[in-house]
Amino acid sequence: MDRVDSTATGRELHRFAAELYPICRSITGDGIRQTLKIIQQRIPLEIVEVPSGTSVFDWTVPKEWNIRDGYIKDSSGRRVVDFLKCNLHVLNYSAPIHAKMPLSEIRPHLFSIPAHPDWIPYRTSYYKEDWGFCLSHNQLLALPEGDYEVCIDSTLADGSLSYGECFLPGQSSDEILISCHACHPSLANDNLSGLTVATALARILVECNANFHYSYRFLFIPGTIGAITWLARNRDAAARIRHGMVLTCIGDKARFHYKKSRRGDAEIDRAAAHVLSHLTEAPEILEFSPYGYDERQYCSPGFDLAVGCLMRSVWGSFPEYHTSADNLNFIEPKCLAESLRVCATILDVLENNGRYRNLSPFCEPQLGRRGLYRTTGGDSIANEINARLWLLNLSDGENSLLDIAERSRLPFETILEAADLLRENSLLELAPEAKGREEVPAKVAHKNVVPSS
Ligand SMILES: [Zn+2]
Repeated sequence: MDRVDSTATGRELHRFAAELYPICRSITGDGIRQTLKIIQQRIPLEIVEVPSGTSVFDWTVPKEWNIRDGYIKDSSGRRVVDFLKCNLHVLNYSAPIHAKMPLSEIRPHLFSIPAHPDWIPYRTSYYKEDWGFCLSHNQLLALPEGDYEVCIDSTLADGSLSYGECFLPGQSSDEILISCHACHPSLANDNLSGLTVATALARILVECNANFHYSYRFLFIPGTIGAITWLARNRDAAARIRHGMVLTCIGDKARFHYKKSRRGDAEIDRAAAHVLSHLTEAPEILEFSPYGYDERQYCSPGFDLAVGCLMRSVWGSFPEYHTSADNLNFIEPKCLAESLRVCATILDVLENNGRYRNLSPFCEPQLGRRGLYRTTGGDSIANEINARLWLLNLSDGENSLLDIAERSRLPFETILEAADLLRENSLLELAPEAKGREEVPAKVAHKNVVPSS
């Protein structure tokens, strides 16, 4: 992904987000279904429907919510709050209502943000039947007392919960999970950034058409209930997940944050930290906490999967979070493209993190004789030779390439290139227990793919 490609990739990611932005998604209903169908045009996606009322662990798949219209009309018949202008205006999962009432009776059902008087908040009421409207504080202040007509033309009825699953088989049945939520209406960073980057990542893997070591599973699911539903129905597949990431809030300009899995020292935790430290400015690694996105479910003690969460801004910590200001201007093409590159590079580390054995372990082999030791050259040459020395020293069959990259403070890619060179020169071999991985997989981050529409 050179600079030119990453510009085009960023533009395409943003264009895709813009296509999905107007859809009124929720944890069930036609909005998420329509979103999954659009993703299905780009990657092989199975859309799964789970009926309302299905028990999933301690939860129950809720009734399906659909909405056609919603408004508050003043006495002159003018819409003073209008769902058709912005889908955040209706409390997500709102029960239907059509009534005339004074403003004083409507007030308990109105939500605004006084600190940001122009922004519309995003509020939900999934598990308690209620109705309501969200509006800017300025809009609220402008409403005179009096009678209004309130209408929410929605349905809450038996139907199903929809999620999307893209499975790409590799050489091994061991899996890498990429999961993102697809249940927020017009919100860009929290929702669409993860969804568009995950789609592009899956598309790159498909277009690489390479012999990957791992099998890959991409989930596009409603937050919380979607992850719980998938885990309840797929306990066998869950047991095959070796590494995973939840992708969310990865389209804005903030520095990267990676929240570790519950295990804290999983290979994915180390791979993510390593890649972020070499590719990005001042990343921050966060310890696991039982609050956040669907890593909460994947890391629940019964599963305890090695799944972390990749973010730029952290949920709840930026003012635009869950408001109309988390819009298409808040996410940027180059930030989306950089996030895609980070994800692809993390997959490269996982794919190539083998253990090797030095075939000439008694003192240093003479590299100069093999043309592997140059005495002149710049910094990068020095790094390359350094990588060879580190590899020869630490390749005892125990240390993985990531162990060596961490200890040498060199980028994984440099270590991997050196390992390939030393293998060609018969100085290294894959450690016996890693022989199954002899087939060297393609490098995901180096595939110049612009996701096409
Ligand atoms: Zn959210």
